[in-house]
Amino acid sequence: MRSSCWLSVLVALPAHSSHNGPLTYTSECPLAPGSLVRVPLGSRDVPGIVWGPLAAPPDHIDPSTLRPVTAHLDSVPALSPAWLRLVDFAASYYQRSPGELALSVLPPSLRDLTPIQMGRRLRRALPPSGAAGSDALPSEPARTLSPGQAAALTAIRDGPGPFLVHGATGSGKTEVYLQAATDLLRTDPRAQVLFLVPEINLTPQFQERLVRRFAPEFGPQAVVTQHSAMTPARRLASWLAAHTGSARVVLGTRLAVFASMPGLRLVVVDEEHDPSYKQQEGARYSARDLAVYRGKLEGATVILGSATPSLESWYLSRPASEGGRYLRLSMPERIGAGALPVVRRVDMNRQSRHALLSAPLIEALRERITRQEQSLLLLNRRGYAPVLHCTDCGWKSECPHCSAYRVFHKHDRTLRCHHCGFTQPVPRACPACGNPDIRPLGRGTERLEEMLAETLSTTLRPDGTPVRIARIDADTTRHTGALESQLAAVHAGEVDILVGTQMVAKGHDFRRMTLVAAINPDGALFSSDFRAPERLFALLMQAGGRAGRDAQHAGRSEMWVQTFHPSHPVFEALKRHDYPAFAASQLAQRAQAGLPPFLFQALLRADAATQEQAQEFLNDASSLAEEHLAALLGAITRYPAVPLLMQRVANVERAQLLVESPSRPALQRFVAAWQPLLQSLRAQPRHRRIQRWAVDIDPLAI
Ligand code: ADP
Ligand code: ZN
Ligand code: ZN
Repeated sequence: MRSSCWLSVLVALPAHSSHNGPLTYTSECPLAPGSLVRVPLGSRDVPGIVWGPLAAPPDHIDPSTLRPVTAHLDSVPALSPAWLRLVDFAASYYQRSPGELALSVLPPSLRDLTPIQMGRRLRRALPPSGAAGSDALPSEPARTLSPGQAAALTAIRDGPGPFLVHGATGSGKTEVYLQAATDLLRTDPRAQVLFLVPEINLTPQFQERLVRRFAPEFGPQAVVTQHSAMTPARRLASWLAAHTGSARVVLGTRLAVFASMPGLRLVVVDEEHDPSYKQQEGARYSARDLAVYRGKLEGATVILGSATPSLESWYLSRPASEGGRYLRLSMPERIGAGALPVVRRVDMNRQSRHALLSAPLIEALRERITRQEQSLLLLNRRGYAPVLHCTDCGWKSECPHCSAYRVFHKHDRTLRCHHCGFTQPVPRACPACGNPDIRPLGRGTERLEEMLAETLSTTLRPDGTPVRIARIDADTTRHTGALESQLAAVHAGEVDILVGTQMVAKGHDFRRMTLVAAINPDGALFSSDFRAPERLFALLMQAGGRAGRDAQHAGRSEMWVQTFHPSHPVFEALKRHDYPAFAASQLAQRAQAGLPPFLFQALLRADAATQEQAQEFLNDASSLAEEHLAALLGAITRYPAVPLLMQRVANVERAQLLVESPSRPALQRFVAAWQPLLQSLRAQPRHRRIQRWAVDIDPLAI
């Protein structure tokens, strides 16, 4: 083979390897940037993406050592320059190598198949949609917009954005997104729209709605889904449909922010406050923030939407005169008769001690049963009890591998660690002193379900049958399809009271639900995580949004909060459904305390067998910065290394070091310059025992 061109090619080099840019190869013919290739790397043959042509090989490389590209996947069109720029930006912003990031966000089949296999796969056309069986769905026509919706849509048509649509659950945000999308899809036959959601499996209704709206007009294959839980074949088919432009609408989770969409015109980030938009390993990107960047890059409109926006986005959408960069569109009213639920706080200080369910709440549940309406009880702890303890010596069910207690699961009588999975049968007696009286401490969903059944054992439904209680949490939905069938039972009205974790608080539209109660939400009020109140407020607003969505029941839907701190500002704001007031008070506190969004943070994290090793690495890293990067440290604050809140998981000790700056560019410059120093530090013999290290930019948990 005669090789006459030089190419730089992205390959997935191991994380933090000293070389992290593209590698140089030769090729017989020029290949367009974005072409998918296979190249030799050491003794292996690996997938790569052509980054660009090179006029000459880099100076430090002897051209005779360069090896040729092994194969070109010419059946797949090249990735666009805009896509390459998105990856390049994300890699540099989140401090990873572009090759690692680029290849990790492509479907695995694109990486694994040879050109011949790929050709075969492409001929075996598979329907791309994850929305299987969707053809049978009835169509959903566009609605006549309310004045609030119409005003939002007009603003979206007129302005460049990005937009932050703020409106309660049921205020008609989705309808606005759908009509904005329809506009674009109609006017430009190449236009494509990307919808990002935090979790697809939890929100099948959203997916159905997209299909019902778009399939009749744009064809049954117009809507595809992209998320990491799909089979490789489907994921490839969906990806290709978007990549070749045949799919007009892509619905996906955070990974889909990297969907290849040559005609991208609109990106909608629904529930933009949701922490699952932040990737927690590898490149720790925020899909929400990348969506905004991508919109700018490709000239696509970006709409972020939420009833309880992240404080970051809320702050960015302050008036332009005060420096805001997003346009805030508020839609305060619920559509039709769907009033927001009345919020009632139960002061648990006045209830009998240790009561999990207060007397008035039990009464309210009984009323719902009589009226044949549904209730949802929210308790954010699965299992029977979070701890088992010995009444004699004080032994507790600690996990030997983690700094956490193992949770008591009664149905199979196990102690399970929710962090490392370590599971053992419940001991017959205290392992420390032999006392047979070991007891559960605290309550989880399993116990709540049991207590509820006892409490309501004599209560009957109007037709004389017993009350039907169901539980949905990570334990009851372990098997594929379990969640769907349990949700279907709730929708079909086969359940009177649903007990669940936050899993059920998101997105579901339960028509007959008129009571939602948070059983024990106080923990988040005093958490050391400064974002905990924001999360609690969002969760409760969202949970409350489950209630009273049906006009038939409107007016009597209620959100109950059982709390020992009824006058806490979080609950006061919740009672008034007043997100802006809540946000204003939180922002004032954050400004005063010097916290995001008023400054920017990065975490350096290290894992090792001992806490000392992990911290030593971090503190050495800090000293190196002091020594070599003094010029960049002006606007930077570095803190000493500390253990993570969950200090030990699966016998790994974890530590972190926080770096802050009021200037995002200053922080970026510093971290970028720090990166090579960190790599050389890790290579020193004294830091061999560091198992993993990572930089987390804009971390969500400190
Ligand atoms: P959100 O996304 O804010 O929760 P949706 O767009 O889902 O709100 O609207 C809530 C409900 O109201 C849905 O059932 C939707 O079909 C309906 N709806 C939305 N806009 C209108 C409208 N302009 N006229 C009538 N019904 C509407
Ligand atoms: Zn004991
Ligand atoms: Zn454990």
